Amino acid sequence: MISISIDGPGGAGKSTIAKALAKKLGFIYVDTGALYRAIGLYMINNGVDLKNAAAVTEKLDEVKVELKYVNGEQRVLLCGDDVSEDIRKPEVSMAASDVSAIPAVRDFLLGLQRKMASENNVIMDGRDIGTVVLPNAQIKLFLTASAEERAMRRYKELIEKGKKVEYETVYKELCERDYQDSHREVAPLKPADDATIIDTTGNDLEKSVQVLTDFILPKLEK
Ligand code: C5P
Repeated sequence: MISISIDGPGGAGKSTIAKALAKKLGFIYVDTGALYRAIGLYMINNGVDLKNAAAVTEKLDEVKVELKYVNGEQRVLLCGDDVSEDIRKPEVSMAASDVSAIPAVRDFLLGLQRKMASENNVIMDGRDIGTVVLPNAQIKLFLTASAEERAMRRYKELIEKGKKVEYETVYKELCERDYQDSHREVAPLKPADDATIIDTTGNDLEKSVQVLTDFILPKLEK
């Protein structure tokens, strides 16, 4: 099986680019952020204090997270319910970041991610795929862009979905989440030593997909 890891901060374009690449290559796209979001959502819905590691860990016993593919599109099931839309709410982003710093949560999701990669050719995106989840991935990328541009992309996405948000708020939340993700003790956001760093600042989506395709294709043909 072939694994391609794409790590990087929020709004770097990982998911959109990875989705397009997976389609081109016939690989399965695994969005691991969605798994952390599902756990964050469960804890919010059940009134659990997200900063209380013991309380979150105890509640994990009740949680069942599954990935399903419908017409090639990843769907996330939380205790049997499709929560693929609910997990995109802005308040779930920070909840995902909070619970993702808890070691038991990371352990809980590790097996599922590795199983997906052992059974399929995957493009997996996240924060620790190249460093922890799939250290033997054949191709490792770390995608980034300036914080201002990442926030602007996120802002536009939310506005397009009809959400009422301010750019300043989106920018502030994105920076806070990046800081928290990069400074946690377990599996912090950072490029693997053998990852190639690609900066997409100034590129539109098409250009970024092209840059990554040009990088990946010759490596797969080898
Ligand atoms: O990628 P996305 O923004 O959906 O991820 C939500 C949160 O889940 C991130 O801010 C991060 O805290 C966490 N995450 C993680 N490890 C991953 C993927 C996501 O810690 N592999």
